[in-house]
Parts: sequence; structure tokens; C-alpha cells
Amino acid sequence: MKLNTKIKSIDLISSKDKLQFDNEGTFPINFGNNFIDDNEQIKYHSEIELFEGRLSFSIEINFRYQSNCGRCLRVSHNEEKSSFSTTLNIIEDNDYEINFDDEYFDLSPFISEIIIEKMDINYVCSQKCKGLCSFCGINKNNLSCNHSEKNSKESPFSSLSQLDL
Ligand SMILES: [Zn+2]
Ligand SMILES: [Zn+2]
Repeated sequence: MKLNTKIKSIDLISSKDKLQFDNEGTFPINFGNNFIDDNEQIKYHSEIELFEGRLSFSIEINFRYQSNCGRCLRVSHNEEKSSFSTTLNIIEDNDYEINFDDEYFDLSPFISEIIIEKMDINYVCSQKCKGLCSFCGINKNNLSCNHSEKNSKESPFSSLSQLDL
């Protein structure tokens, strides 16, 4: 089931106490070579309190994601726990454009930001990763072939290697 990220504004406005939310569900993300697919469950715990126009908000997220090496495509599985807290003045303008004229307070922009912050858009499995051969596609970390960089530059057809055939 899709992660529930929406909190009714009226619940927050009418509560005198801190509200706590625990939810679990799918929250697919694609960021560079990193992704959370639509079967993966993520979890969060959030505490929210509205007092004299100030919204104190904290959230802790547990999530798993995959990263594919940008050179050899090797998949790495990662597990993270990350948290964030802030206090917003909801009477004046705030960075998140939150105001309680809206029916819901939506946590999804916070969740996306927290998750993406943990992801490396230029992820490689190792700085020494040799990647895949652009001619035959083998993984040069494990195997070798005759298609060295040097050969490709000397070949009269080397410009063909630039093409995506
Ligand atoms: Zn690699
Ligand atoms: Zn090769």
C-alpha cells in the first residue's frame, strides 16, 4: 500500500497535544542510479505539535534503496535511518509554503528530501571500478578482453564507438 503522508490540518489545529504518526508503505523514488522500487516498504515516525502559530515537526524514516554502479552496473543494497526536525512559522511565509488553509499537511516533500539526501547521484561501486567494455559489454573488473582503450583509438572505426548502436 502507498505510504500515507497526509495529515489533516483540522486534526492538528484542534489538538492541544503533540500528535504522533507511525506509517509504513510504498514510496517509490528514482534519483540518478538510485531507486526505491514500488514493492519496497518504507517506515516513518513523526511528531507534530502546533502551538501559537508555530509548527514543531520531527520525522524519522527507515528505508532501503538500491544503487547501481554508474560504471559496471553492479547493484548495491543499502539500508538507512534518517531524521529531520524543524519549527515553522505557519502564520508568516515559510520555505515549505505550508499553511493551514490547505486541508492536509503533506509530509511527502520532507520524506523525498530526506531520502534523496542519502543517495549519491554519482554512485560508483569503487573509485577503481573499471566498468564495462564498451565493445563487448564484459565487466572489466572480473574479466579481460581484447578491446583496450588503446585499440579503440587506433581503429579507423573508432568514431563508431561513440555511437549508441
Ligand atoms: Zn562498478
Ligand atoms: Zn571487450
